Amino acid sequence: MSTAAETFGSVSGPLHVTGELLATRRIGGHHHLTVVAPGIPERFRPGTFVALSTEPARLARRAFWIHRVKPVGGYGAALELVVETRGPGTEWLVAQPPGARLAVTGPLGRAFSLPKQPVGCLLVGEGYAAAPLFPLAERLRERECPVTLLVAAPDEAHLLSALEARRTARAVTVVTQDGSVGTRGTVGDVVGEVLERSRAEVVYAAGPVATLHTVAAAAEAAGAWSQVALEQPLTCATGLCQGCVVPVTGEGGHPRQVRACADGPVFRGDRVVWDELAAVAP
Ligand SMILES: Cc1cc2nc3c(=O)[nH]c(=O)nc-3n(C[C@H](O)[C@H](O)[C@H](O)COP(=O)(O)OP(=O)(O)OC[C@H]3O[C@@H](n4cnc5c(N)ncnc54)[C@H](O)[C@@H]3O)c2cc1C
Repeated sequence: MSTAAETFGSVSGPLHVTGELLATRRIGGHHHLTVVAPGIPERFRPGTFVALSTEPARLARRAFWIHRVKPVGGYGAALELVVETRGPGTEWLVAQPPGARLAVTGPLGRAFSLPKQPVGCLLVGEGYAAAPLFPLAERLRERECPVTLLVAAPDEAHLLSALEARRTARAVTVVTQDGSVGTRGTVGDVVGEVLERSRAEVVYAAGPVATLHTVAAAAEAAGAWSQVALEQPLTCATGLCQGCVVPVTGEGGHPRQVRACADGPVFRGDRVVWDELAAVAP
């Protein structure tokens, strides 16, 4: 059985644990990993992530959104992560057999803020990065916020949980670049219209930087608040190395450099200095 190895921060802060991979399922272009990581599910809030060690020779850990927390017989709750293979770390991870031990740190970062009033919310997610929006939609529904979802991907294989989206939200718009499902196009083609139709007062977005910039601009134009979940490449993922810089406009309009991992990864869309971020984003 996995054990908690070390705790840092407050009692509700992140844990560093030896976890266990229970299962890996291939769904379309993604791999869904079920990971037992004692103590982390209980601390999870939508928008937080975990950092996993991959091959023993690779020091830098890899970051993944927590897609959901689900009960598994005999283990209590486990984490579900959605992995799109990109390089050696993710290739190694999805090739691990059930029972593999994984060093897991989390939940890390600042979660999405929830509205105090039951206001309309638009959630925009692209590809695997839509992962944190599904548990967010559940929390918003618990607060009686009408939820509209806009999910996008290059193609159907990389569209995350479209069926679940239809169960979770009041209205769902699907866009794919190749038109294999939903409307052919990009988030930028439809977000203005969806925002107007939904009359959302708060917009949440997760995806590539260019998409987040587009959504934040559309929200600002519509007079809505936006929160964006950034995926800046991380080194330590805990705030110590200060390597994941995000340029923002601080209180009083002063420019500031903050850390994506510890001060984010969720930021107010109107506070990110998008042009400068584009220069440092992958
Ligand atoms: C907060 C956060 C949450 C994330 N959640 C998920 C998730 O739920 N599922 C998932 O599949 N991936 C997620 N990522 C991206 C994932 O961490 C990287 O794809 C992974 O680290 C790549 O490791 P690798 O060894 O396979 O590839 P590497 O060899 O490290 O990288 C391969 C290529 O990907 C680029 N790259 C590396 N990191 C990123 C990044 N963060 N964004 C864009 N390009 C990058 C590199 O520049 C390189 O060109 C997340 C990243 C962050 C910061």
